[in-house]
Amino acid sequence: MGYALNSRVFKTLLIIFGLSFLVAACDETKAPKPYRDLAREILAEVIAMKTVDDGSGSSVIIADAMAKRLTDAGFPAADVIVTGPRPEVGVVIARYRSENSAARPIIVMAHMDVVDALPSDWSRDPFTLIEENGIFYGRGVGDNKTGVVALVTNFIRLKEEGYVPDRDIIMILTGDEETTGGSINWLANERRDLIDAEFALNTDAGGGYLKDGQNQAFGLQASEKMYLTFNFTVRNSGGHSSVPRPDNAIYELAAGLLRLSEYSFPTILNEVTRSQFIETAKIMEGDIALAMLAIGLDQATPEQMALIRTIPYYNSLTRTTCVATKLAAGHAENALPQSATATVNCRIFPGVPADQVEARLLEVMAIPGVEVERTNIPKISDPSPLRPDVMIPVRALVKKHFGDIPVIATMSTGATDGLYLRNVGIPVYGLSAIFAEPGSVNAHGRDEQIPVKSFYDAVSFWYDLMKAVTGGEV
Ligand SMILES: [Zn+2]
Repeated sequence: MGYALNSRVFKTLLIIFGLSFLVAACDETKAPKPYRDLAREILAEVIAMKTVDDGSGSSVIIADAMAKRLTDAGFPAADVIVTGPRPEVGVVIARYRSENSAARPIIVMAHMDVVDALPSDWSRDPFTLIEENGIFYGRGVGDNKTGVVALVTNFIRLKEEGYVPDRDIIMILTGDEETTGGSINWLANERRDLIDAEFALNTDAGGGYLKDGQNQAFGLQASEKMYLTFNFTVRNSGGHSSVPRPDNAIYELAAGLLRLSEYSFPTILNEVTRSQFIETAKIMEGDIALAMLAIGLDQATPEQMALIRTIPYYNSLTRTTCVATKLAAGHAENALPQSATATVNCRIFPGVPADQVEARLLEVMAIPGVEVERTNIPKISDPSPLRPDVMIPVRALVKKHFGDIPVIATMSTGATDGLYLRNVGIPVYGLSAIFAEPGSVNAHGRDEQIPVKSFYDAVSFWYDLMKAVTGGEV
Protein backbone atom coordinates (compact mmCIF):
# COMPACT_ATOMS: atom_id res chain seq x y z
CA MET A 1 0.00 0.00 0.00
CA GLY A 2 2.74 2.40 1.00
CA TYR A 3 4.51 1.60 -2.23
CA ALA A 4 1.47 2.46 -4.34
CA LEU A 5 0.97 5.77 -2.59
CA ASN A 6 4.62 6.76 -2.88
CA SER A 7 4.63 5.77 -6.49
CA ARG A 8 1.59 7.94 -7.17
CA VAL A 9 3.15 10.95 -5.47
CA PHE A 10 6.34 10.37 -7.40
CA LYS A 11 4.41 10.11 -10.66
CA THR A 12 2.59 13.38 -10.00
CA LEU A 13 5.86 15.15 -9.35
CA LEU A 14 7.38 13.81 -12.52
CA ILE A 15 4.37 14.82 -14.59
CA ILE A 16 4.67 18.31 -13.16
CA PHE A 17 8.24 18.37 -14.35
CA GLY A 18 7.25 17.12 -17.78
CA LEU A 19 8.84 13.72 -17.42
CA SER A 20 5.74 11.58 -17.70
CA PHE A 21 7.26 9.49 -20.49
CA LEU A 22 9.78 8.17 -18.00
CA VAL A 23 7.02 7.02 -15.70
CA ALA A 24 5.27 5.25 -18.53
CA ALA A 25 8.45 3.32 -19.32
CA CYS A 26 9.02 2.31 -15.68
CA ASP A 27 5.54 1.69 -14.33
CA GLU A 28 4.33 -0.46 -17.17
CA THR A 29 7.21 -2.85 -17.21
CA LYS A 30 8.44 -3.06 -13.62
CA ALA A 31 7.11 -5.81 -11.38
CA PRO A 32 5.57 -4.65 -8.06
CA LYS A 33 8.12 -4.57 -5.26
CA PRO A 34 6.91 -7.73 -3.45
CA TYR A 35 7.56 -9.74 -6.62
CA ARG A 36 10.92 -8.08 -7.25
CA ASP A 37 11.82 -9.08 -3.70
CA LEU A 38 10.50 -12.59 -4.28
CA ALA A 39 12.56 -12.93 -7.48
CA ARG A 40 15.71 -11.88 -5.68
CA GLU A 41 14.97 -14.21 -2.76
CA ILE A 42 14.53 -17.18 -5.11
CA LEU A 43 17.68 -16.25 -7.02
CA ALA A 44 19.71 -16.21 -3.79
CA GLU A 45 18.17 -19.55 -2.79
CA VAL A 46 18.93 -21.32 -6.07
CA ILE A 47 22.45 -19.89 -6.49
CA ALA A 48 23.27 -21.29 -3.03
CA MET A 49 22.28 -24.76 -4.23
CA LYS A 50 25.24 -26.39 -5.95
CA THR A 51 23.20 -28.12 -8.61
CA VAL A 52 25.96 -29.89 -10.50
CA ASP A 53 24.74 -33.12 -12.16
CA ASP A 54 27.42 -35.28 -10.52
CA GLY A 55 25.29 -38.08 -9.07
CA SER A 56 24.73 -36.22 -5.79
CA GLY A 57 21.01 -35.73 -6.40
CA SER A 58 21.26 -31.95 -6.03
CA SER A 59 18.71 -31.35 -8.78
CA VAL A 60 16.14 -33.36 -6.80
CA ILE A 61 16.60 -30.97 -3.85
CA ILE A 62 16.13 -27.86 -5.98
CA ALA A 63 13.20 -29.48 -7.81
CA ASP A 64 11.47 -30.16 -4.48
CA ALA A 65 12.12 -26.58 -3.32
CA MET A 66 10.70 -25.03 -6.50
CA ALA A 67 7.71 -27.38 -6.43
CA LYS A 68 6.99 -26.42 -2.79
CA ARG A 69 7.00 -22.73 -3.67
CA LEU A 70 4.42 -23.41 -6.36
CA THR A 71 2.10 -25.53 -4.19
CA ASP A 72 2.44 -22.99 -1.34
CA ALA A 73 1.21 -20.36 -3.81
CA GLY A 74 -1.93 -22.36 -4.50
CA PHE A 75 -1.09 -24.70 -7.38
CA PRO A 76 -2.78 -28.08 -6.79
CA ALA A 77 -0.25 -30.75 -5.82
CA ALA A 78 -1.47 -32.91 -8.72
CA ASP A 79 -0.37 -30.19 -11.16
CA VAL A 80 3.17 -29.89 -9.78
CA ILE A 81 5.11 -33.07 -10.44
CA VAL A 82 8.69 -33.79 -9.44
CA THR A 83 9.95 -36.63 -11.58
CA GLY A 84 13.07 -37.57 -13.53
CA PRO A 85 14.72 -40.05 -15.88
CA ARG A 86 17.10 -41.28 -13.15
CA PRO A 87 16.62 -41.25 -9.34
CA GLU A 88 19.40 -38.67 -8.88
CA VAL A 89 18.02 -36.23 -11.47
CA GLY A 90 15.07 -33.99 -10.58
CA VAL A 91 12.65 -32.50 -13.08
CA VAL A 92 9.71 -30.20 -12.29
CA ILE A 93 6.63 -30.30 -14.50
CA ALA A 94 4.11 -27.70 -13.35
CA ARG A 95 0.85 -27.13 -15.18
CA TYR A 96 -0.91 -23.76 -14.97
CA ARG A 97 -4.42 -24.73 -15.99
CA SER A 98 -6.75 -22.81 -18.25
CA GLU A 99 -10.49 -23.26 -18.44
CA ASN A 100 -10.16 -24.38 -22.04
CA SER A 101 -8.95 -27.95 -22.07
CA ALA A 102 -9.23 -28.15 -25.88
CA ALA A 103 -6.52 -25.56 -26.62
CA ARG A 104 -2.99 -26.92 -27.04
CA PRO A 105 -0.70 -25.89 -24.18
CA ILE A 106 2.54 -23.99 -24.48
CA ILE A 107 5.78 -24.88 -22.70
CA VAL A 108 8.03 -22.52 -20.77
CA MET A 109 11.38 -24.05 -19.85
CA ALA A 110 14.65 -23.63 -17.96
CA HIS A 111 17.35 -25.90 -16.54
CA MET A 112 18.27 -26.00 -12.86
CA ASP A 113 21.69 -27.65 -13.14
CA VAL A 114 24.94 -25.74 -13.59
CA VAL A 115 28.49 -26.44 -14.68
CA ASP A 116 30.71 -26.92 -11.62
CA ALA A 117 32.73 -23.98 -10.30
CA LEU A 118 35.77 -24.24 -8.03
CA PRO A 119 35.81 -21.53 -5.35
CA SER A 120 39.61 -21.38 -5.73
CA ASP A 121 39.18 -20.32 -9.39
CA TRP A 122 36.76 -17.53 -8.58
CA SER A 123 37.36 -14.14 -6.99
CA ARG A 124 34.08 -14.60 -5.05
CA ASP A 125 32.18 -17.62 -3.67
CA PRO A 126 30.44 -19.05 -6.78
CA PHE A 127 27.59 -20.48 -4.70
CA THR A 128 26.60 -17.28 -2.90
CA LEU A 129 24.63 -14.59 -4.71
CA ILE A 130 26.77 -11.45 -4.54
CA GLU A 131 25.67 -7.98 -5.68
CA GLU A 132 28.44 -5.51 -6.36
CA ASN A 133 28.28 -2.24 -8.30
CA GLY A 134 25.11 -3.14 -10.12
CA ILE A 135 26.25 -6.67 -11.02
CA PHE A 136 25.00 -10.05 -9.74
CA TYR A 137 27.73 -12.69 -9.41
CA GLY A 138 27.17 -16.41 -8.89
CA ARG A 139 27.29 -19.70 -10.77
CA GLY A 140 24.13 -19.86 -12.83
CA VAL A 141 23.06 -16.19 -12.81
CA GLY A 142 23.46 -16.23 -16.58
CA ASP A 143 23.03 -19.91 -17.35
CA ASN A 144 20.24 -20.59 -16.45
CA LYS A 145 19.03 -19.85 -12.92
CA THR A 146 17.61 -16.45 -13.83
CA GLY A 147 15.37 -18.44 -16.15
CA VAL A 148 14.27 -20.70 -13.28
CA VAL A 149 13.52 -17.61 -11.19
CA ALA A 150 11.59 -15.88 -14.00
CA LEU A 151 9.34 -18.91 -14.46
CA VAL A 152 8.72 -19.71 -10.79
CA THR A 153 8.22 -16.08 -9.69
CA ASN A 154 5.82 -15.32 -12.50
CA PHE A 155 3.79 -18.50 -12.02
CA ILE A 156 3.34 -17.39 -8.39
CA ARG A 157 2.55 -13.79 -9.31
CA LEU A 158 0.04 -14.73 -12.01
CA LYS A 159 -1.66 -17.20 -9.66
CA GLU A 160 -1.91 -14.67 -6.85
CA GLU A 161 -3.32 -12.10 -9.27
CA GLY A 162 -6.03 -14.62 -10.23
CA TYR A 163 -4.88 -14.83 -13.85
CA VAL A 164 -6.49 -17.56 -15.96
CA PRO A 165 -4.68 -18.34 -19.24
CA ASP A 166 -6.65 -19.33 -22.34
CA ARG A 167 -4.56 -22.51 -22.64
CA ASP A 168 -2.43 -24.48 -20.20
CA ILE A 169 1.11 -23.31 -19.54
CA ILE A 170 3.50 -26.19 -18.82
CA MET A 171 6.66 -25.26 -16.92
CA ILE A 172 9.57 -27.66 -17.43
CA LEU A 173 12.64 -27.37 -15.19
CA THR A 174 15.30 -29.96 -16.05
CA GLY A 175 18.27 -31.15 -14.01
CA ASP A 176 20.88 -32.32 -16.52
CA GLU A 177 21.02 -29.93 -19.48
CA GLU A 178 24.73 -29.32 -18.98
CA THR A 179 25.59 -33.03 -18.98
CA THR A 180 23.46 -35.54 -20.86
CA GLY A 181 20.24 -33.72 -21.74
CA GLY A 182 18.67 -36.95 -20.52
CA SER A 183 15.70 -35.28 -18.80
CA ILE A 184 14.38 -33.48 -21.83
CA ASN A 185 15.17 -36.41 -24.11
CA TRP A 186 13.17 -38.67 -21.79
CA LEU A 187 10.25 -36.24 -21.56
CA ALA A 188 10.17 -35.72 -25.33
CA ASN A 189 10.34 -39.40 -26.20
CA GLU A 190 8.81 -41.28 -23.27
CA ARG A 191 6.62 -38.80 -21.36
CA ARG A 192 5.17 -36.79 -24.22
CA ASP A 193 1.82 -37.09 -22.37
CA LEU A 194 3.19 -34.75 -19.66
CA ILE A 195 4.52 -32.08 -21.97
CA ASP A 196 2.75 -32.17 -25.33
CA ALA A 197 2.42 -28.58 -26.55
CA GLU A 198 2.00 -26.24 -29.51
CA PHE A 199 5.42 -24.68 -29.04
CA ALA A 200 7.99 -23.96 -26.31
CA LEU A 201 9.58 -20.79 -25.00
CA ASN A 202 13.06 -21.43 -23.62
CA THR A 203 14.79 -19.13 -21.10
CA ASP A 204 18.13 -20.80 -21.90
CA ALA A 205 19.01 -19.16 -25.22
CA GLY A 206 18.78 -15.85 -27.02
CA GLY A 207 19.34 -12.69 -25.01
CA GLY A 208 19.85 -8.97 -25.33
CA TYR A 209 22.90 -7.13 -26.60
CA LEU A 210 24.14 -4.12 -24.66
CA LYS A 211 26.72 -1.66 -25.96
CA ASP A 212 27.98 1.00 -23.57
CA GLY A 213 24.95 0.31 -21.40
CA GLN A 214 22.47 0.86 -24.26
CA ASN A 215 20.11 -1.81 -25.62
CA GLN A 216 21.14 -2.73 -29.17
CA ALA A 217 19.21 -5.82 -30.21
CA PHE A 218 17.12 -8.69 -28.86
CA GLY A 219 18.12 -12.24 -29.80
CA LEU A 220 15.55 -15.01 -30.26
CA GLN A 221 17.03 -18.45 -30.90
CA ALA A 222 14.96 -20.44 -33.39
CA SER A 223 17.44 -23.01 -34.68
CA GLU A 224 20.42 -25.08 -33.54
CA LYS A 225 23.09 -26.92 -35.48
CA MET A 226 23.42 -30.70 -35.25
CA TYR A 227 26.34 -32.12 -33.28
CA LEU A 228 28.29 -35.10 -34.64
CA THR A 229 31.81 -36.32 -33.89
CA PHE A 230 33.87 -38.72 -36.02
CA ASN A 231 37.03 -40.67 -35.28
CA PHE A 232 39.18 -41.32 -38.37
CA THR A 233 41.80 -44.03 -37.93
CA VAL A 234 44.66 -45.06 -40.19
CA ARG A 235 46.27 -48.44 -39.43
CA ASN A 236 49.68 -49.80 -40.45
CA SER A 237 51.69 -52.92 -39.71
CA GLY A 238 54.39 -50.73 -38.11
CA GLY A 239 57.97 -51.79 -37.67
CA HIS A 240 61.34 -50.54 -36.44
CA SER A 241 61.80 -46.76 -36.58
CA SER A 242 65.38 -47.24 -37.76
CA VAL A 243 64.05 -48.45 -41.13
CA PRO A 244 61.26 -46.03 -42.13
CA ARG A 245 59.07 -46.76 -45.17
CA PRO A 246 56.93 -44.47 -47.33
CA ASP A 247 53.72 -45.86 -45.79
CA ASN A 248 53.22 -44.27 -42.35
CA ALA A 249 49.96 -43.99 -40.40
CA ILE A 250 50.80 -40.55 -38.95
CA TYR A 251 51.84 -39.03 -42.28
CA GLU A 252 48.82 -40.41 -44.11
CA LEU A 253 46.42 -39.10 -41.46
CA ALA A 254 48.20 -35.73 -41.25
CA ALA A 255 48.07 -35.28 -45.02
CA GLY A 256 44.33 -35.97 -44.97
CA LEU A 257 43.81 -33.48 -42.15
CA LEU A 258 45.70 -30.82 -44.08
CA ARG A 259 43.33 -31.35 -46.99
CA LEU A 260 40.42 -31.00 -44.55
CA SER A 261 41.84 -27.74 -43.17
CA GLU A 262 41.71 -26.25 -46.67
CA TYR A 263 38.17 -27.39 -47.33
CA SER A 264 35.01 -25.42 -46.70
CA PHE A 265 31.51 -26.88 -46.87
CA PRO A 266 29.15 -25.09 -49.29
CA THR A 267 27.24 -22.00 -48.20
CA ILE A 268 23.71 -22.69 -47.04
CA LEU A 269 21.02 -20.54 -45.46
CA ASN A 270 17.58 -21.05 -43.98
CA GLU A 271 14.71 -18.78 -42.92
CA VAL A 272 16.30 -18.17 -39.53
CA THR A 273 19.84 -17.34 -40.68
CA ARG A 274 18.59 -15.15 -43.55
CA SER A 275 16.58 -13.18 -41.04
CA GLN A 276 19.55 -13.18 -38.63
CA PHE A 277 21.81 -11.54 -41.24
CA ILE A 278 19.20 -8.99 -42.33
CA GLU A 279 18.41 -7.93 -38.76
CA THR A 280 22.04 -7.97 -37.60
CA ALA A 281 22.96 -5.71 -40.54
CA LYS A 282 20.85 -3.02 -38.86
CA ILE A 283 23.23 -2.78 -35.93
CA MET A 284 26.45 -3.11 -37.96
CA GLU A 285 28.23 -0.51 -40.07
CA GLY A 286 30.14 -0.24 -43.34
CA ASP A 287 31.04 -3.13 -45.63
CA ILE A 288 30.17 -5.80 -43.10
CA ALA A 289 26.61 -4.42 -42.75
CA LEU A 290 26.21 -4.40 -46.54
CA ALA A 291 27.61 -7.93 -46.82
CA MET A 292 25.19 -9.20 -44.15
CA LEU A 293 22.22 -7.62 -45.85
CA ALA A 294 23.30 -9.06 -49.21
CA ILE A 295 23.68 -12.55 -47.74
CA GLY A 296 20.26 -12.33 -46.10
CA LEU A 297 18.76 -11.43 -49.47
CA ASP A 298 20.72 -14.14 -51.35
CA GLN A 299 22.56 -11.45 -53.33
CA ALA A 300 26.06 -11.60 -51.86
CA THR A 301 29.03 -11.19 -54.19
CA PRO A 302 32.00 -13.56 -53.78
CA GLU A 303 33.89 -10.67 -52.10
CA GLN A 304 31.07 -10.14 -49.59
CA MET A 305 30.91 -13.85 -48.88
CA ALA A 306 34.67 -13.88 -48.31
CA LEU A 307 34.37 -10.93 -45.91
CA ILE A 308 31.75 -12.75 -43.82
CA ARG A 309 33.91 -15.86 -43.76
CA THR A 310 36.73 -13.96 -42.03
CA ILE A 311 34.56 -13.82 -38.87
CA PRO A 312 34.45 -17.36 -37.40
CA TYR A 313 30.97 -17.07 -35.87
CA TYR A 314 29.39 -15.81 -39.10
CA ASN A 315 31.31 -18.36 -41.13
CA SER A 316 29.85 -21.06 -38.88
CA LEU A 317 26.34 -19.68 -39.43
CA THR A 318 26.58 -20.08 -43.19
CA ARG A 319 27.68 -23.71 -43.49
CA THR A 320 28.38 -27.05 -41.88
CA THR A 321 31.76 -26.98 -40.14
CA CYS A 322 34.03 -29.91 -39.26
CA VAL A 323 37.27 -29.39 -37.40
CA ALA A 324 40.00 -31.66 -36.01
CA THR A 325 39.92 -31.45 -32.21
CA LYS A 326 42.04 -34.38 -30.95
CA LEU A 327 44.87 -36.63 -32.15
CA ALA A 328 46.22 -39.93 -30.87
CA ALA A 329 48.95 -41.88 -32.63
CA GLY A 330 51.84 -44.27 -32.17
CA HIS A 331 52.80 -46.46 -29.21
CA ALA A 332 56.57 -46.03 -28.79
CA GLU A 333 59.11 -43.44 -29.83
CA ASN A 334 61.27 -46.05 -31.54
CA ALA A 335 58.49 -47.80 -33.47
CA LEU A 336 56.67 -46.95 -36.70
CA PRO A 337 53.08 -46.02 -35.77
CA GLN A 338 50.58 -48.86 -36.01
CA SER A 339 47.66 -46.50 -35.75
CA ALA A 340 46.81 -42.81 -35.89
CA THR A 341 43.39 -41.44 -34.96
CA ALA A 342 41.98 -37.95 -35.44
CA THR A 343 38.78 -36.77 -33.78
CA VAL A 344 36.80 -34.43 -36.02
CA ASN A 345 33.88 -32.54 -34.52
CA CYS A 346 31.13 -31.39 -36.88
CA ARG A 347 28.38 -28.82 -36.41
CA ILE A 348 26.00 -29.72 -39.18
CA PHE A 349 23.68 -27.18 -40.74
CA PRO A 350 20.03 -28.14 -40.02
CA GLY A 351 18.62 -30.34 -42.74
CA VAL A 352 21.95 -31.65 -44.05
CA PRO A 353 22.08 -35.47 -43.65
CA ALA A 354 24.90 -36.84 -41.50
CA ASP A 355 25.68 -39.48 -44.16
CA GLN A 356 26.30 -36.73 -46.70
CA VAL A 357 28.76 -35.01 -44.36
CA GLU A 358 30.59 -38.27 -43.69
CA ALA A 359 30.85 -39.04 -47.42
CA ARG A 360 32.18 -35.55 -48.12
CA LEU A 361 34.81 -35.81 -45.35
CA LEU A 362 36.07 -39.12 -46.71
CA GLU A 363 36.25 -37.66 -50.20
CA VAL A 364 38.07 -34.50 -49.07
CA MET A 365 40.60 -36.23 -46.82
CA ALA A 366 41.15 -38.97 -49.43
CA ILE A 367 43.07 -41.30 -47.09
CA PRO A 368 43.23 -44.82 -48.55
CA GLY A 369 41.77 -47.41 -46.18
CA VAL A 370 40.85 -44.94 -43.41
CA GLU A 371 38.41 -46.32 -40.83
CA VAL A 372 35.55 -44.09 -39.70
CA GLU A 373 33.54 -44.26 -36.50
CA ARG A 374 30.81 -41.94 -35.12
CA THR A 375 31.06 -41.25 -31.40
CA ASN A 376 27.49 -40.02 -30.95
CA ILE A 377 24.09 -40.36 -32.58
CA PRO A 378 23.16 -37.00 -34.08
CA LYS A 379 19.79 -35.51 -33.09
CA ILE A 380 18.03 -33.94 -36.04
CA SER A 381 16.64 -30.54 -35.07
CA ASP A 382 14.78 -28.61 -37.76
CA PRO A 383 14.63 -24.82 -37.49
CA SER A 384 11.50 -23.52 -35.79
CA PRO A 385 9.33 -21.44 -38.14
CA LEU A 386 9.20 -17.70 -37.36
CA ARG A 387 5.48 -17.94 -36.75
CA PRO A 388 3.35 -14.81 -36.29
CA ASP A 389 1.75 -15.99 -33.04
CA VAL A 390 5.24 -15.89 -31.49
CA MET A 391 7.00 -13.15 -33.43
CA ILE A 392 4.24 -10.50 -33.23
CA PRO A 393 3.86 -10.57 -29.42
CA VAL A 394 7.63 -10.85 -28.92
CA ARG A 395 8.30 -7.80 -31.13
CA ALA A 396 5.62 -5.80 -29.30
CA LEU A 397 6.97 -6.74 -25.88
CA VAL A 398 10.57 -6.05 -26.85
CA LYS A 399 9.51 -2.57 -27.89
CA LYS A 400 7.60 -2.05 -24.65
CA HIS A 401 10.34 -3.33 -22.36
CA PHE A 402 13.57 -2.59 -24.18
CA GLY A 403 12.86 0.11 -26.78
CA ASP A 404 12.82 0.27 -30.54
CA ILE A 405 15.54 -2.30 -31.29
CA PRO A 406 15.67 -5.14 -33.81
CA VAL A 407 14.52 -8.63 -32.81
CA ILE A 408 17.10 -10.95 -34.32
CA ALA A 409 16.15 -14.58 -34.85
CA THR A 410 19.30 -16.65 -34.41
CA MET A 411 20.71 -20.09 -35.04
CA SER A 412 22.89 -21.42 -32.22
CA THR A 413 26.13 -23.05 -33.26
CA GLY A 414 26.01 -24.91 -29.92
CA ALA A 415 23.14 -26.88 -28.34
CA THR A 416 20.47 -26.63 -25.60
CA ASP A 417 17.56 -28.72 -24.27
CA GLY A 418 15.52 -27.10 -27.05
CA LEU A 419 16.89 -29.37 -29.75
CA TYR A 420 15.22 -32.44 -28.20
CA LEU A 421 11.81 -30.80 -28.46
CA ARG A 422 12.48 -29.66 -32.04
CA ASN A 423 13.50 -33.25 -32.73
CA VAL A 424 9.98 -34.45 -31.85
CA GLY A 425 8.25 -31.65 -33.75
CA ILE A 426 7.67 -29.05 -31.01
CA PRO A 427 9.03 -25.67 -32.21
CA VAL A 428 11.24 -23.91 -29.64
CA TYR A 429 12.07 -20.23 -29.25
CA GLY A 430 14.95 -19.25 -26.96
CA LEU A 431 14.62 -15.81 -25.45
CA SER A 432 16.35 -15.33 -22.12
CA ALA A 433 15.74 -11.56 -22.36
CA ILE A 434 18.89 -11.01 -20.29
CA PHE A 435 20.74 -7.97 -21.64
CA ALA A 436 24.52 -7.96 -21.32
CA GLU A 437 27.60 -6.69 -23.12
CA PRO A 438 28.82 -9.40 -25.54
CA GLY A 439 31.20 -11.81 -23.79
CA SER A 440 30.61 -10.36 -20.31
CA VAL A 441 28.43 -13.08 -18.74
CA ASN A 442 31.12 -15.77 -18.76
CA ALA A 443 28.67 -18.65 -18.41
CA HIS A 444 30.49 -21.91 -17.48
CA GLY A 445 33.53 -19.74 -16.60
CA ARG A 446 34.96 -17.73 -13.75
CA ASP A 447 32.92 -14.99 -11.99
CA GLU A 448 29.72 -15.61 -14.01
CA GLN A 449 27.73 -12.38 -13.90
CA ILE A 450 24.80 -10.35 -15.22
CA PRO A 451 23.74 -6.74 -14.60
CA VAL A 452 21.23 -6.50 -11.71
CA LYS A 453 18.93 -4.39 -13.87
CA SER A 454 18.98 -7.06 -16.59
CA PHE A 455 17.84 -9.65 -14.04
CA TYR A 456 14.74 -7.70 -13.00
CA ASP A 457 14.02 -6.68 -16.60
CA ALA A 458 14.11 -10.31 -17.75
CA VAL A 459 11.75 -11.40 -14.97
CA SER A 460 9.29 -8.63 -15.91
CA PHE A 461 9.54 -9.46 -19.61
CA TRP A 462 8.62 -13.10 -18.95
CA TYR A 463 5.56 -12.04 -16.93
CA ASP A 464 4.21 -10.19 -19.97
CA LEU A 465 5.36 -12.89 -22.37
CA MET A 466 3.48 -15.67 -20.58
CA LYS A 467 0.33 -13.55 -20.61
CA ALA A 468 0.75 -12.44 -24.22
CA VAL A 469 0.80 -15.99 -25.58
CA THR A 470 -2.11 -17.17 -23.43
CA GLY A 471 -4.73 -14.54 -24.21
CA GLY A 472 -3.83 -12.12 -21.42
CA GLU A 473 -3.74 -8.35 -21.72
CA VAL A 474 -0.30 -6.80 -21.58
ZN1 LIG B 1 22.18 -23.35 -20.22
